[in-house]
Amino acid sequence: MADDHPYADRFGVTRRIPEQGRPRAEVLAELETMATEEDRAWESGKCSGTMYCGDHDHYGFLNEAYGLYAHVNALQRDICPSATRFEGEIIAMTLDMLHADAVSDGEPVGIVTSGGTGSIVHALLAYRDHAAQTRGVTRPNFVKPETGHPAFDKGCHLFGIELRTAPIDPETTLVDVAAMAELVDDQTIAIMGSACNYGYGTIDPISELSDLALERGVGLHVDGCLGGFILPWGQELGWDIPVFDFRLPGVTSISADTHKYGYGFKGSSVVTFRDKALRNAQYFFLTGWSGGKYCSPGMDGSRSGGALASTWAAMVTIGREGYLGYARQIFETADRMKDAVRSHPELRIMGSPTFCFSFTSDEFDIYHVNDAMRAKGWRFNGQQYPNAIHMAVTRPQTQPGVVEEFTADLAGAVAYAKEHAEDTPKSAAIYGGVAGGLDDEADEFIRMVMGDMMDRHQSVPAKD
Ligand SMILES: *Cc1c(COP(=O)(O)O)cnc(C)c1O
Repeated sequence: MADDHPYADRFGVTRRIPEQGRPRAEVLAELETMATEEDRAWESGKCSGTMYCGDHDHYGFLNEAYGLYAHVNALQRDICPSATRFEGEIIAMTLDMLHADAVSDGEPVGIVTSGGTGSIVHALLAYRDHAAQTRGVTRPNFVKPETGHPAFDKGCHLFGIELRTAPIDPETTLVDVAAMAELVDDQTIAIMGSACNYGYGTIDPISELSDLALERGVGLHVDGCLGGFILPWGQELGWDIPVFDFRLPGVTSISADTHKYGYGFKGSSVVTFRDKALRNAQYFFLTGWSGGKYCSPGMDGSRSGGALASTWAAMVTIGREGYLGYARQIFETADRMKDAVRSHPELRIMGSPTFCFSFTSDEFDIYHVNDAMRAKGWRFNGQQYPNAIHMAVTRPQTQPGVVEEFTADLAGAVAYAKEHAEDTPKSAAIYGGVAGGLDDEADEFIRMVMGDMMDRHQSVPAKD
């Protein structure tokens, strides 16, 4: 396993605010050393997902935009009307991309949040409170396909919503709509489908889910955190991608991450709603507080104006032409990588994915392939039930030579896997890249690993 604390010996461990501040130049040099070394891990194009853009020039520009507003509190709009402009325009552009112009039965709106999880939990809160206000729901439940992101489980956990999980068809990896229908009852606030899901990159039958939602009078959230800012362009370019957005009458909210294929900085995402009433259900006001009248549009209090400014700057400088161009390169690269996988009869791609795909093997444990690819510098995310590895193609993979390297390294890895089919692979399947045992044991193991990673340098120094 990678060492989580490689800098302790090199730079020492700071356990108390330094008596005298350190020189800025020295601190910047230290920061630059760590950043430059860490960037090497993905600049080669061998890292799945994570670095969606990877263009240091673009990052430099975003840093300038961010820097102008980093110190601004977007909660206090009277002194920063620019934040209102950025947020409104980010939402408008996102709604337009998701075809909200097709909506005639509502007033489409949105919220800019701090990330995909933020967008998902805001949607859950809106559904819970809207269902309580309009349908008198007191024991709320929410239904997701097994492949739905853990952020839905997290939000349900936080808000006291019962989470129900619908099975998927193991062949297509798509949700079993009939099974989902069975789980919907009069306390169901909403259901969800992914476009696309994180694990397999496949798109749930959103059109069928839309029919189900309308028939049963529940909301339908489409999780476009990963695909929201790339699938619309792929559709426009002619890739085989079904309609998943506001053109479907049952879709009541969509999350789309600007900090993934929107090519903004980490810390921004958009959740869009078919109608204002749904979003407004989660607004929070405390008008009688002695400290003044308080209201906030979402769960955060103070927020950095930098995140809004840089996200807006990314969208307006890349433009439709830019997004289409990058999407074309990404879809073409993914197609070539999938062809490389398909050229090995021992490997099997899960379902019919587009820019993000997952593969397994019925002949050997696919983690052997992962082990061999890791030795060549590749970083994939591991999956379980069945074991599989996943690749979300991003701009760093579109650099010349990366597909060729993938193809060659994969061939070597398949040979390695066949040779070691009887052994236990070194890598195992835990989201985030830490290895563990099974179920209960895995919970305990993860708790221990998290504890070591987070806490080792947190101890308070002894007082003299
Ligand atoms: C990334 C992702 C999320 C969660 O987003 P964060 O930005 O990590 O909070 C949700 N759903 C899908 C499909 C994702 O890929």
